[in-house]
Amino acid sequence: MNDFNNNNGSSPLSLEERLAQAEFPKRHATNLLTEFALNTCSILRVEGSDGGYKFVIQLSSGQLVETVLIRHIRNNGHVRYTVCVSSQVGCAKKCSFCATGTMGLKAQLTSGEILEQSIADDDMPSTTETARSRFRVKPNGVIRNVVFMGMGEPMDNYDEVHESLRGLTHQYLFQLNAKHITVSTVGASARKIRLLADEAPQVNLALSLHSAIQESRELLIPSANANPMKSLGESLDYHSTKSGRGAMIEYLLIDKVNDSDAEWTHLRSFVKNGTNTKIYSNIRRCL
Ligand code: SF4
Repeated sequence: MNDFNNNNGSSPLSLEERLAQAEFPKRHATNLLTEFALNTCSILRVEGSDGGYKFVIQLSSGQLVETVLIRHIRNNGHVRYTVCVSSQVGCAKKCSFCATGTMGLKAQLTSGEILEQSIADDDMPSTTETARSRFRVKPNGVIRNVVFMGMGEPMDNYDEVHESLRGLTHQYLFQLNAKHITVSTVGASARKIRLLADEAPQVNLALSLHSAIQESRELLIPSANANPMKSLGESLDYHSTKSGRGAMIEYLLIDKVNDSDAEWTHLRSFVKNGTNTKIYSNIRRCL
C-alpha cells in the first residue's frame, strides 16, 4: 500500500495525484476533482466548547450545512475526534423532533462536498488556527471516526453518500477503516439498508428508531410508514448477516412520548427478535 502523504519516500502527493491513483470510475473521478479539489466549501463560523466544535459551512451554491467535531478523551489522555457530517441541505423526512426536518429538502450534497467536511486541511480557510490544525482526517491523525448523523437522511442521497464512503476508505485518500464509519438512517427504506449491506458491509449502520410501536414511530418519523416494523426488522437482520455486526439503535427518550412501559416492552422484543442488534440507549443525533 502506498503511503498517504509520501509516495515511496519522496515528495508528498498532491490531492490531485492521490485522486488520479485512486482508480475511481472516470465519472466519479471527474466529479471528485471538480467538486472536491477546488475546495468549494468554506467555513463561515466555528463554535467551540469542551465537547468539540460546530462548523457552519457554506457550499459553492451559498447554502449552509453544519459539521460537528465531537471530542473524545481516551484513557491515556490523548484527544481524538469524531466528525459528524451532513449529507443533504435540509431534509424531506420531517421528523417531529428535528430542526432540520422543518426546512424541507433544499439540496443534495455531492460526494465531494461530503468529503470536504472530513478534510478541511491547510488549504481550507478557518476562523481559528486551533480549529484548523485539528480539523483534518489522516492516517494516525486525531480524527478517527466519521458519522453520517448531520443534516439530512443519508439513504435519500445514497449514490453520493456511497461514493464518499469509497473516498473515506480509499488507500489513496482518507484511508479510514470502514469500521470507524457509521451511517445513520431513520429506516424508511428497507431497500437502501439492504443495498448498503451489499455494497459497504464493513460500514456501521445506526438506526434512528425512537419507538418500536409503529403508530408512535410514525408520529415521530412520518416517513416510517413506508417501512413498517416487520420489514424494518428483516432489513436489519439482512444487514447483520452481511456485515457480521448488529446495528446500533438510537433512541431519543422524550418525556411522556416514548418512555412508557409499553414502549420498552416493544423495543426489547424488537431487539430480542433480531440477529445481533445492540441497544445504546438515549443516543442523540448530532443536529
Ligand atoms: S432526524 Fe434525520 S431524517 Fe429526520 S428530519 Fe432530521 S435530518 Fe431528516
